[in-house]
Amino acid sequence: MTFDHIIVGGGSAGAVLANRLSADPTRRVLLLEAGADTPPGQVPAAVLDAYPSIAYFNSAWHWHDLRVDYELQRGNRPFVPRRYEQARLMGGGSSINGMMAIRGNPSDYDEWAARGAAGWSFEEVLPYFNRAETDLDYGGPQHGKEGPFPIRRIREPEWPGFARAARKAMLAEGFAELEDHNAQFGDGLFPMAINNRPEGGRDGTRVSTAMAYLNERTRARANLEIWPGVMVERVTFEGRRATGVDIVRDGERRNIAARDVVLSCGAFHSPAMLMRSGIGPGRHLADMGIAVVADRAGVGQGLQDHPTCTLIGHVQRRWRMPTGMRRHIHMGLRYSSGHGDCPAGDMFLIANNRGGWHPLGHLLAGLVIVVNKPFSEGEVKLASPDPLAEPEIHFNQFSDVRDLDRLVDAVRLSYRLMMRPEVRDGVIGMFPSTFSEKARDLAVVSTNNWLQTKAAALLLDFPATRRWMMERQISPGIDIHTLINDPEALTGWVREKACGSWHASCTNRMGAADDHRAVVDPGCAVIGVEGLHVADASVMPCVPSANTNLPTIMVAEKAADAIMGL
Ligand SMILES: Cc1cc2nc3c(=O)[nH]c(=O)nc-3n(C[C@H](O)[C@H](O)[C@H](O)COP(=O)(O)OP(=O)(O)OC[C@H]3O[C@@H](n4cnc5c(N)ncnc54)[C@H](O)[C@@H]3O)c2cc1C
Repeated sequence: MTFDHIIVGGGSAGAVLANRLSADPTRRVLLLEAGADTPPGQVPAAVLDAYPSIAYFNSAWHWHDLRVDYELQRGNRPFVPRRYEQARLMGGGSSINGMMAIRGNPSDYDEWAARGAAGWSFEEVLPYFNRAETDLDYGGPQHGKEGPFPIRRIREPEWPGFARAARKAMLAEGFAELEDHNAQFGDGLFPMAINNRPEGGRDGTRVSTAMAYLNERTRARANLEIWPGVMVERVTFEGRRATGVDIVRDGERRNIAARDVVLSCGAFHSPAMLMRSGIGPGRHLADMGIAVVADRAGVGQGLQDHPTCTLIGHVQRRWRMPTGMRRHIHMGLRYSSGHGDCPAGDMFLIANNRGGWHPLGHLLAGLVIVVNKPFSEGEVKLASPDPLAEPEIHFNQFSDVRDLDRLVDAVRLSYRLMMRPEVRDGVIGMFPSTFSEKARDLAVVSTNNWLQTKAAALLLDFPATRRWMMERQISPGIDIHTLINDPEALTGWVREKACGSWHASCTNRMGAADDHRAVVDPGCAVIGVEGLHVADASVMPCVPSANTNLPTIMVAEKAADAIMGL
């Protein structure tokens, strides 16, 4: 059994590639995914739900053992493990993510081209953004109308009270208002584009790449096979030519042959797969006892994400999300920090109208604060050659101090916005927060968590116990009004607590064939071997100023053309 293309990973990118490559009936295509399938008519309700946090934290759809370390690698400092959800499910991240559909700034892609990704300037990637989407609101040369991926916006009159107040505060602070952030690239606040179909309830339903690209018509193609529940262990080689993959299916290990293997396992598992297969920094592979097929120093290097934290308000009843409303994020703000050499549009704020699925989350709303053009870089290394062992992931989150400084300043801006009269009247109390391990525990839907958070919500809403709840339970030892005026303490808090936005990327960077840090060439072919491509978030030369799902889909669309020689 020999395939023309084996795609490893049916995530945001892999589902796109399976569709586009199998559109040519002369190519036999096999899509392998470790997680469960989500075929038409059998998509779980929690995946379809316009409120995504239930899917974010459903461990049935995760790589359970994956842990990351955000802090700087120094000396023999031990690995400090924190959870970082990554999807193990058809559609990958697009099946569990927040559905924000953002392209980023033209300068992001012009930077890709300048870094050696010839053919990936904004002008050159725009046709692929357009090919992916059907924008239900806008048309013209900046948008697609026939793509599989529907994108729309929910307008201001339908927003809950907190988002409307945040908008007023941002306007009063002097920010402009944009209609369409995917086509207007200045600073300003905007209704958030989401990949969501306006059907199945007032807030519509999620559309993942599995739903959009692996619909019934595509699945009926005779030249496409989709095998869920298959763990791919490594790519196999004859000399420097990839010959197929070793897989485990139903407990049985076997090799499947292919003319071409495409890795779309995401920013952690694609570099790990390359290294397990003998492609990576030669010394590291030797330490792991892995025979070197190609010594590529860049594999696993350059890891990026968008550092984030949140300013949360305990809000008055009138600003809470109405019962029955599911969508919790409706608007965002892109702005320029003005810091030194940082480019325009480097920062991002999101008004989040619900702090969690549970009764306590219903009382909370806030501003999510994001460094959208970070400079820090981390790495992914193997912890063991065993395919079942997760790699060791170091973000080195604030290795570039510009990222820390801008996040601290953004907390100050957010505080100013929350203290403006437009917002302050509806806020009972305020505290800084991140996705702590405790918050992640409570984010799992369970009766026990509901009961715990119901009790907490009652105590927080009850005036006599409110202060005790805030000072002892919710934000012990941290008073935001004091913290904001203490630069050292604020910087310390941000450095210690900030986490990533689940936008891991850039660990198999695309670049010129003679760039020793590049892993794939601008056609997404792995440099130094034959018959092997990578197409997913890992090939981005630097993380764009955007949530990474839509950019990843664009990468897969363009990679498909390159692989097919179009
Ligand atoms: C909780 C969360 C919220 C997010 N919110 C947003 C958002 O609102 N907007 C946005 O734009 N982006 C968001 N993102 C980021 C975005 O979803 C990711 O950048 C994107 O999904 C990455 O796509 P990918 O194809 O590179 O990897 P993935 O989508 O992760 O796909 C990789 C696939 O490969 C499979 N795989 C891995 N290893 C193997 C193996 N050995 N064998 C077989 N299969 C394997 C995995 O199971 C997975 O399905 C979010 C991500 C998460 C996790």
